[in-house]
Amino acid sequence: MDFDLIVVGGGSGGVRAARMAATYGAKVAVIEADRVGGTCVIRGCIPKKLFVYAARFSEIFEIAGSYGWTVDAQFDWPTLVANKDKEIARLEAAYEAAVEKPGGTIIRDRAIVTGPNSVRLQKAGREITGRYLLIATGGHPYVPSLPGCELGITSNEAFHLKQLPHSILIDGGGYVAAEFATIFAGLGVHTTVVYRGRGMLRGFDEDLRAGFDAGLEARGVRRIYETTIRKLEKSGDDIVAHFSDGVDAPFGAVMFATGRRANTGGLGLEAAGVALNPDGSVPVDNYSRTNVPSIYAVGDVTGRLQLTPLAVREGWYVAETLFNNNPMMSVDLSLVGTAVFAEPEVATIGLSEADAATHGDIDVYVARFRPMLNTLSPVPERMLMKLITEANDGRVLGLHILGPGAAELVQIAAIPMGMGARKADFDRAMAMHPTAGEELVTFKSPSYRYRGGVKV
Ligand SMILES: Cc1cc2nc3c(=O)[nH]c(=O)nc-3n(C[C@H](O)[C@H](O)[C@H](O)COP(=O)(O)OP(=O)(O)OC[C@H]3O[C@@H](n4cnc5c(N)ncnc54)[C@H](O)[C@@H]3O)c2cc1C
Repeated sequence: MDFDLIVVGGGSGGVRAARMAATYGAKVAVIEADRVGGTCVIRGCIPKKLFVYAARFSEIFEIAGSYGWTVDAQFDWPTLVANKDKEIARLEAAYEAAVEKPGGTIIRDRAIVTGPNSVRLQKAGREITGRYLLIATGGHPYVPSLPGCELGITSNEAFHLKQLPHSILIDGGGYVAAEFATIFAGLGVHTTVVYRGRGMLRGFDEDLRAGFDAGLEARGVRRIYETTIRKLEKSGDDIVAHFSDGVDAPFGAVMFATGRRANTGGLGLEAAGVALNPDGSVPVDNYSRTNVPSIYAVGDVTGRLQLTPLAVREGWYVAETLFNNNPMMSVDLSLVGTAVFAEPEVATIGLSEADAATHGDIDVYVARFRPMLNTLSPVPERMLMKLITEANDGRVLGLHILGPGAAELVQIAAIPMGMGARKADFDRAMAMHPTAGEELVTFKSPSYRYRGGVKV
């Protein structure tokens, strides 16, 4: 064998697995067809959050006057894109170093799996062999095949627009649609969301969804629900969207944020005997192993939760299992925090109120308050915090936050929740004043309860 481990895909999961395996002395190759760093670094979490920061300045400027400031703000899109690109290049180099420093090799090519232990390098036209293969090829944006769909962009292109459109239509209801809606709106683009469902962020706690929807309204983001795009047509510089309700409207740009699909097309997995799910993702066992014993898969390509920290953790565990004589099972998904870095920010961990109520008797603590930063300003928006506990022993089952710093708060609360914390443990923590987080440790009595599945 040429290598102990061949990793296909140099994204979050692949790079972590390669780095750890190389650290444990394995001979490792990472094959990357595009840029090392993958979705998260090159066209996902990182550039997205940098854009979110850019968009948030407009809200800061809005309230600055209440604090005595006069701001004459101008925004220059090319400056943001150029500075973002510089930071992404820096991170890309750091990811390359993470593989190469401990002795791994990066091969810049497209890989096609040819057997349980072999991979063909498309450009180089040669085959390499490995004791184990790790498929970490991630996913790509799914675009519905409707007439004119090629006129639309996806999140991939949104990071490289030459100029900001005057208006944009975003098709989708998930976190990518939500985040880009507030990025574009914050940067002054007239933004409309069209979604086939009844509201965005399906699966999140209903109060968060309602609060988020109100936040979009307050920011002038138009939402068209229970509607789809039938076709797109070019009209001068604009794109006309024909909606399922019979309405037509022109937009400067149209973005599809309609989900993602696993990168398994043309990868050769079936020929190597690897079973695939109907949606193209790769089913794996608790150790991230496919049905072919020498082939493992981690990250988005497995169709589990599509989050960077999970891909990283799964990659690390595969390296532990194969090269550190330390078999590690995949992650407990029941307490994985997740955030929507939109405006207002949304973060959540554990069970939603609706789900928790079906599991047993629960107490629900809700706080709604104006974040202190807003109090001098006319901005009426409120922050929402919801803590859900088991009625009998007070175990904290879910935490849902909408408002500034939501993700940071939920990240920290994930620690006690992972330890099985109860309401009494939260109560024992001394409040830090004045903070938003102190609300979490000063809840007195439940706002309402569920007994036998009924709200009382
Ligand atoms: C807009 C956006 C925002 C996001 N924001 C967040 C966020 O805030 N927080 C969060 O946790 N997650 C976020 N995600 C999700 C996160 O980016 C992914 O979960 C994560 O990158 C998955 O890592 P991965 O290793 O599975 O795949 P990827 O990072 O996608 O890496 C796969 C790599 O494989 C390469 N590849 C594919 N096929 C081949 C082949 N045949 N040969 C060689 N190389 C190949 C690709 O070029 C790519 O570099 C976001 C995603 C998007 C799209």
